Amino acid sequence: MTTWDSLYANRASRMRASEIRELLKLLDRPDVISFAGGIPDQALFPAEAFKEAYEEILSGPDAGRALQYGVSEGSVRLRDWIVGHMRALGIACGPENILVTSGSQQGLDYIGKLFLSAGDTALVQWPTYLGALQAFNAYEPEYDRLDPGTNRAAADYASKAAAKGGRIKFAYLSPDFANPTGLSVDLAERKRLLSLAGDLDCAVIEDSPYEALRYDGDAVDPLLALDCAASGGIENTRTLYCGSFSKSLSPGLRLGWICAASPVISRLVLIKQASDLNTPVLNQEAMARVAERCFDSHTARTNAIYKERRDAMLAALAAHMPEGVRWTRPEGGMFIWVELPSGMDAADLLQKSLASAGVAFVPGGAFHPDGTGGNTLRLSFSCADYQKIEEGISRLGGLIAQTVMSTL
Ligand code: PMP
Repeated sequence: MTTWDSLYANRASRMRASEIRELLKLLDRPDVISFAGGIPDQALFPAEAFKEAYEEILSGPDAGRALQYGVSEGSVRLRDWIVGHMRALGIACGPENILVTSGSQQGLDYIGKLFLSAGDTALVQWPTYLGALQAFNAYEPEYDRLDPGTNRAAADYASKAAAKGGRIKFAYLSPDFANPTGLSVDLAERKRLLSLAGDLDCAVIEDSPYEALRYDGDAVDPLLALDCAASGGIENTRTLYCGSFSKSLSPGLRLGWICAASPVISRLVLIKQASDLNTPVLNQEAMARVAERCFDSHTARTNAIYKERRDAMLAALAAHMPEGVRWTRPEGGMFIWVELPSGMDAADLLQKSLASAGVAFVPGGAFHPDGTGGNTLRLSFSCADYQKIEEGISRLGGLIAQTVMSTL
C-alpha cells in the first residue's frame, strides 16, 4: 500500500478539516434548532433578479463571451461596480486596484501564498475566523495575538517573530461584526493598528465580508480608507481589503474581491493565473447586473429582517440566561458571542444540548489558535425565525442554568 503520509509536502501536516464544517454535517437534523451555521438565510436570496440576469446574458449577444475563459483580474463590468462600492466607502481606487476572487476565502489563500514563508509570523485577532487560519496554515506561519485595545509595543511583536525565525508579514483582522464575536473595531483602534503596522512595516489584511450588514450605530471608515487618507492615496497603502458578495447577495456564486495598491494586485493576478485562471465569467456578469440593480435595496430589506432576529436573540438571552453568562451586542453581521461561567466547557455543553435540548451552536474553542476559549460559544441568528430563537435560547438557558447548579 502506498505510504501517502511520507509523500506529502510539509505544509500538508498543517491542513486540517474545519471543526465547524464537520460539526455542521452532524447538526443537519430536522429536530434540532440550529444557531450553528454562520450562513445567510437562503429564503432571502434575490433569486428572481439572478434568474433575469442569467437569462438576459445567455439569450443576448454576449452569451459566448460569458461562457468563455475570462481575464484573471475579473470582468470589467463587475470590477466597475466594485470600484463604485469601494469609493462609497471612502476608498478612491480604479479597476487596477481590484482582483475578483472566487469568494473572499480564495483571497485569503492567495494572500497567504503571496506573503507567508514558513516561520513568518501572522498577527491575528483572538478569537479569529477559522477559515483564515485554514487558509494561512498551508504556508506554515507562526501566529501571534493581535489584541485590539492593548498597547503592546511594536518591538515586542517584532522580537517574538524574530525568535521564531521569521518576521511579521501581516496583521489579519475582521473589523466589522467579526466572525465569531460579532464585535467591531472602533475608529481609534483602527488608527492605532495602522500605526502599529507602520512601525512593523507589515501589511494589514482587512477581511470585511459583513460590512454591508449594519443594523444600527454609525459606520466606521474601513482601515483601507484611513490608510488612503493618511498615506496620500491607495498606491501608498499597506492595507489589503477583502470584500465578498456572499453575505449580501449570494454565497453560491462564489464571488469576492481584493482591493489594494496595484503592484500587490498584479502579484495576486499571477497567483490567480496559476490557480484557476479566472473566476467564472458567467457568474461575474450575472452578479454585476444584480448588484447594479438591487444591491442597496436588497441589503436594506434583508438587514431589516436580520436586525429583528438579532434583537429577538438579544431579548431571549436577557430573558433566559442565568447569572454569570455574558454576551456581545453586535451592531450588525450574524453572530453573538457568549461567555459561560469560567470552568464550564462549551464542547461538553453542546453534547448535552444536542442530546436533551435539541439546540446547536458552535463551541468557541475552535476559534482560538492556542486552544483557549473553552467556555465560549458562537450563536448565529441569521437563519432562525423569532419563535425558534425564543424557544431555542430558552431551552439553552435552562440547560446552562441546570449545568451551573449541578457544579455548585
Ligand atoms: N471571512 C470571514 C470573516 C467569513 O466569516 C467568511 C465566511 N464565513 C469568509 C471570509 C469567506 O467568505 P466567502 O469566501 O464566501 O466570501
